[in-house]
Formats: sequence, C-alpha cells, structure tokens
Amino acid sequence: MRLLIMGPPGVGKGTQSAILASGLEIPAISTGDMFRAMQASQSELAREVRDVMASGRYVDDALTNRIVVERLSRADCAEGFLLDGYPRTLPQLDFLHRWMAEQDTELDAVLVLEADEETTARRMAARAALDGRPDDTVEAFRVRLRVYAEQTKPLLDVYDELQLLRRVDGTGTVDEVAQRVFAALRPA
Ligand code: ADP
Repeated sequence: MRLLIMGPPGVGKGTQSAILASGLEIPAISTGDMFRAMQASQSELAREVRDVMASGRYVDDALTNRIVVERLSRADCAEGFLLDGYPRTLPQLDFLHRWMAEQDTELDAVLVLEADEETTARRMAARAALDGRPDDTVEAFRVRLRVYAEQTKPLLDVYDELQLLRRVDGTGTVDEVAQRVFAALRPA
C-alpha cells in the first residue's frame, strides 16, 4: 500500500505511523526525521535546515522533494510506503503525484489524524519535556500551527476531492487511535 499520514503538529503522526508501517510491513518515511538526521552534519545546508525547523517554518520545497524522491526510489519502497509529513504544500503534492504517475503508481489512501488544539498543545508540551526538540517551544509551536493551517490544510481538500481522504479521530490512547487507523484502511 502507498499511504500518507497527515494532521496538525502534535497530533501523534509519528507514533501512529510507526505502528501502522510495522503492521503493514512497509517503510515509514518521515521528512521531519530525515531533516533532523541531516542536522548532524556541519554543512551550511544543515545549518539552514536547522534554523528553519527551529523557527517552525517549512524547509524549501525543492530540497524536500529531492530527499523524498531519493528515499522513495530505494528498493524497500517498491511494494509500498507510508509517508509522514510529506507532502505539506501544494507544490510538494503536485511534485509527488507527477513523480508517482511517472512510476505508474498511485496513492491508496490519505489518513488524516484529527484532534483539537488543546490536545495537540498538551502532547507537544509533554514531548518537549521528554526529548527537547528545538521546535517544540511555545513560540515555534504557534508558528507551526499557523503554517499548517495556511499551507498544509488546503491539501486535505484536494485529497477529499480525489476520494482518498480517511479522517481518523486522533484523541484517546495510542492503542485506541491505532485501532481506528487500521479500521479506516479496511474496505467498507
Ligand atoms: P510535526 O509532525 O510534529 O509537525 P515533523 O517532524 O513532521 O513535525 O516536522 C518538523 C519540521 O520539519 C517541520 O516543522 C518543518 O520545518 C520540517 N519539515 C518536515 N517535513 C517537511 C516538508 N514536507 N516540507 C517542508 N518542511 C518539512
């Protein structure tokens, strides 16, 4: 299966994406994780990515598209993949779909985890206390919410039109949400 998982910052995409991908035996590909891994390097590009991420804004589309396609071209993605955090902008969406069309593949479904802002803010604060991600500050979180609403939410309308969207209630325990995620992928 070729899947996307979307949702606002702090909703728990990373957690659910790991569970789902291992259940389906497909690789989970998180652009956020790939960018975080890049930061270990001392290059100028790594520094730029670090600053952009810490502010809560998005990394530039061209760079993001390039690292995703490089990853999706590896052999382990041939039978399917779960993309977490990509596409996040309309140009990324267009790019991904053009690239997939060239490969003669298409998406099977787009999961969107939903939760109210109080829940996502609470989870984000808990994560900040645990692993201190530099973009989990109150200020960066505010920016991430705004950028999500402006740049990423419009993608949901596109996927709704394409009848790929599966909305999943992201509140409750990790197990409850995981059950709903698997249920959303079962044929009706
Ligand atoms: P979360 O799901 O909590 O919002 P991620 O780990 O997915 O966080 O992403 C963290 C940051 O990485 C984003 O705020 C952004 O700066 C960068 N990033 C991740 N994916 C993308 C993308 N597809 N396009 C641009 N920037 C991205």
